[in-house]
Amino acid sequence: MNHTLIRFENGGTGWTEFECGRCGVDVDMFDFDQVDVLEAAENAVPFRCPNCRAEAVPLDKTNPE
Ligand SMILES: [Zn+2]
Repeated sequence: MNHTLIRFENGGTGWTEFECGRCGVDVDMFDFDQVDVLEAAENAVPFRCPNCRAEAVPLDKTNPE
């Protein structure tokens, strides 16, 4: 299964969209909520889906546009 992590910029700290490859949950995270998943992506460690508890290493698909 693959998790995807998409970061957006909105002029401030931006936000992170997390999609679970197992249950398909789509979570938008702001401010402190996105710290955990960002750290997981940067350190290539598993992040646990808040919905189905599946663990997978997030894939940072940051698009600069
Ligand atoms: Zn899930």
